[in-house]
Amino acid sequence: MGAIILLAVYQMIIPTPYPVGPVNVYLIKNDPITLIEVGPDTPQASKALEHMLELLGCRVEDIKRIVVTHSHPDHCGMAEQVARASGAVVHIHPLEESKIKGKEDFYKERMPFILETGIPEEVLKEVIGEKDQLPEPSLEDISIKLLSGGERISFDGGELRILHLPGHSPGHLCAYEPEQKLFFSGDFLLPHITPNPLMEPDHEKPGLRLPSLKQYLSGLEVLEKLEVNLVFPGHGGAFNDCGSAINVARQHHQEQFTRIIANLQGGERNAYQLCMAIYPGLQKFGISLGLSEIVAHLDYLVENGNINCSKQQGINYYCL
Ligand SMILES: [Zn+2]
Ligand SMILES: [Zn+2]
Repeated sequence: MGAIILLAVYQMIIPTPYPVGPVNVYLIKNDPITLIEVGPDTPQASKALEHMLELLGCRVEDIKRIVVTHSHPDHCGMAEQVARASGAVVHIHPLEESKIKGKEDFYKERMPFILETGIPEEVLKEVIGEKDQLPEPSLEDISIKLLSGGERISFDGGELRILHLPGHSPGHLCAYEPEQKLFFSGDFLLPHITPNPLMEPDHEKPGLRLPSLKQYLSGLEVLEKLEVNLVFPGHGGAFNDCGSAINVARQHHQEQFTRIIANLQGGERNAYQLCMAIYPGLQKFGISLGLSEIVAHLDYLVENGNINCSKQQGINYYCL
């Protein structure tokens, strides 16, 4: 019997200018040399990636594949630059690719949903006034391979199974390595925070949102069935106890449902009022994230018949 060859995985911690802190980029040194995530489009990240690859005996030009879990700039901003320098093929879900290619204006598509929350005009101005200083990720003139989940990507010595686990982002991909039972979770499962089920328009049903939280909770059920020894997250250190992290995420959403219902005891509220009651002190882009979190839970509670929603002068009001 020949020796078992395993995937050689190295974690590289790459700085980002975002409050979330650094992002993890994983190098798999087996042929074809692959990166999972690539980092933001900043000179600091580019320098850090180059330096760490060098320490691991690789060059940017050696990279053949880049798997990006989703289109957020901290994970994939540098994809175009690295793919151009190396000729690597960027692997991405079609929903994330179209977000990047469509040069999606974050607020334009979400504005009808944001206005429905009852956000006051002056606060809205403050929220949309804070623009990301980095350029939008771009995938111009590079090779792309679309992955929808269910594919296997092979290496000399192993394979990764691709899973489509939406909820944080509609085309979020994770990867599972069945031999060592490694799970590359992107932003789907993190050691210290629960990912935001972001407000996302449903392009197949114009005017409606995707059921982000429902998608996310179903994804946790999928993940629970996998045997996982080690989780390699998009942010923070690798961790063993995948089952506990799943429970922490579920617990968080349960507590959020309880908080919302408690806040509706006194009568009807809109999403903005609930957001401010639950997260006092939020500012600027933070308000947008807070609203996403609250709206995702409200959508879930409405769909399950736990609360009611009625529209009054363009604003959604929720009651028990
Ligand atoms: Zn993200
Ligand atoms: Zn992230």
